[in-house]
Amino acid sequence: MKNAVVTGGGSGIGAAIVARLRADGLNVAILDVHPSDDEFAHVADVTDRAAVDAALNAVRAQLGPISVLVNAAGLDCFTRFTEVSFDRWQRVIDVNLNGVFHCIQAVLPEMIEAGWGRIVNISSSSTHSGAPYMAPYVAAKSAVNGLTKTLALEYGPAGITVNAVPPGFIDTPMLRAAADKGYLGDIDKTIEATPVRRIGRPEDIAAACAFLISEEAGYITGQILGVNGGRNT
Ligand code: NAP
Repeated sequence: MKNAVVTGGGSGIGAAIVARLRADGLNVAILDVHPSDDEFAHVADVTDRAAVDAALNAVRAQLGPISVLVNAAGLDCFTRFTEVSFDRWQRVIDVNLNGVFHCIQAVLPEMIEAGWGRIVNISSSSTHSGAPYMAPYVAAKSAVNGLTKTLALEYGPAGITVNAVPPGFIDTPMLRAAADKGYLGDIDKTIEATPVRRIGRPEDIAAACAFLISEEAGYITGQILGVNGGRNT
């Protein structure tokens, strides 16, 4: 049975990915800043390499080698660029980009040894078009897309695929918190402007991840698979 780790697996999209991969028969551990009573949840901030290594070691002790990694932990930011403090800029880059660096670098050696691995990075549909007031977030998520393509080239020969799923407008606590603060405008108008005429569900992203992780997706790597109801084509 394959062992997977989902960062940010305690909420929203990450939680849906955990549920889906478990339903598909994988062992799935959660790595999140929030404690959880899930038997396979480990608390770690993805920006803290020592904490990530300790959590992943605990997963290995529980389940064995890790062959699937989904990076879903993320932190948004809604501030006009001229008002973004450098501390805020660094924190948003740290969580959304450096956290992905730490987690991928920490699991690649065992995937290489196994000759098989699947990595899926949850980026953002804002990378297709830019998004006002989200400069550090879009910069970090765009870098994640670039990192995805590069790692696909480096580790394809080792049997490891690396893909990104940039979600667009998915109903999660992160999106609801932004909507409550008035950052997202009128949600009904956004739905009207979405070709499939609904808001996205975390399960929509989980379905894409499940496919990219599957054995049959082994010829798909370095791809950015938009899941956005057609808002970004
Ligand atoms: P969410 O409900 O806030 O879930 C994200 C989870 O990651 C939360 O449990 C969060 O904890 C955790 N987390 C945040 N910083 C962390 C850190 N440093 N280390 C470990 N865990 C951390 O958000 P979501 O909407 O499901 O987002 C999941 C991913 O999709 C994110 O990468 C997000 O940027 C991306 N995304 C979402 C949408 C959307 O429409 N929802 C669109 C584009 C991209 P806290 O609650 O404490 O922050």
